[in-house]
Order: sequence, then structure tokens, then C-alpha cells
Amino acid sequence: MSNPKILDNTPYWLEDRRTGSGEGLGRCNPYGYERDPQVMGGVHDLKHEKFMYFCQNQADARYWLTCQYGHRGQVTVCYAHAMMIRRRMVELCPRCAWPDEARQIDKSMNDTMAELACHPAPFDPERARLLVRLDDLRGRMDELIRTGVIKKGGPLQLSEVS
Ligand SMILES: [Zn+2]
Ligand SMILES: [Zn+2]
Repeated sequence: MSNPKILDNTPYWLEDRRTGSGEGLGRCNPYGYERDPQVMGGVHDLKHEKFMYFCQNQADARYWLTCQYGHRGQVTVCYAHAMMIRRRMVELCPRCAWPDEARQIDKSMNDTMAELACHPAPFDPERARLLVRLDDLRGRMDELIRTGVIKKGGPLQLSEVS
């Protein structure tokens, strides 16, 4: 598994606060809510992401990002990023998209696929058994989507922490 590519996502054209003092909040971190295990469950494994973005501006304020189902996480961002989040809308709440059941199924699927790799022969009965299991897991994941256990949760609302 390769590490994510780091891309500069500083919106210089909106606001350049790279040399600003900030409000003592540190660096703008527009994607922090997805990775903070305290607030959003830390559902995103960095190793599985292709890109990682960062912003060089100093943060201006702290905001709550709240999903339609009440999950919320804090982001500490520059005003330009707050504006971008409001305009683009965050459609996916990580907690809604990855409830515990979905995470367990996802893990079982990965384990099953790893086992499959150890049984490459087409007529290996163990292989047939694993394929049935994989199919069953896919079915359970579809069921979670159909019954609304897995949902998008968006759009997330951004509101300044007072
Ligand atoms: Zn920013
Ligand atoms: Zn949610």
C-alpha cells in the first residue's frame, strides 16, 4: 500500500494568510474532521487514500460540521476554506457512510479476498467456499444500503463554534 500523495490545496486566490498570525488556532485543517478519531470515528485510513490535501493558511475559526442525523465534528479552518465548504457542501458524513456493521463487513471482505489469493486454483473447493462467502458479504452490504443503515448524511451544516 503506497502512501497518499500530498497536494497543496491552499486557496491563495481567495485569501493568503500563510504569513498571518492566526488566532492561535494553528494551521487550517479542512479535512481534519474525517481523521480525528475523537470526533468522527477516524473512519478514513490514510493508507487507503490516493491524495491528501493541506492548506498553508493560518486557521481563522473553529466550526462544527453537523450531519442531517446529528453526528458532528469540529474543523479548524481559514475563512476561505469555510466559504468553500459552505459553497460546495459536504455530502458525505463519514459516520453515516461507515456504521460499525459496514466496517465489520468491509473488514471481512478484505480478509476473504486475502484468503482467496492463497487459493488461486480454479477447482480448489476452498476457493469455491470463499467465493460464496464473498457473495454473501456483498449481499449484506447491499442490504445495509437498502435499509438505510448506510446513508450519506449530507449535506453537512457548517456553523461557527461560539
Ligand atoms: Zn484553508
Ligand atoms: Zn452522520
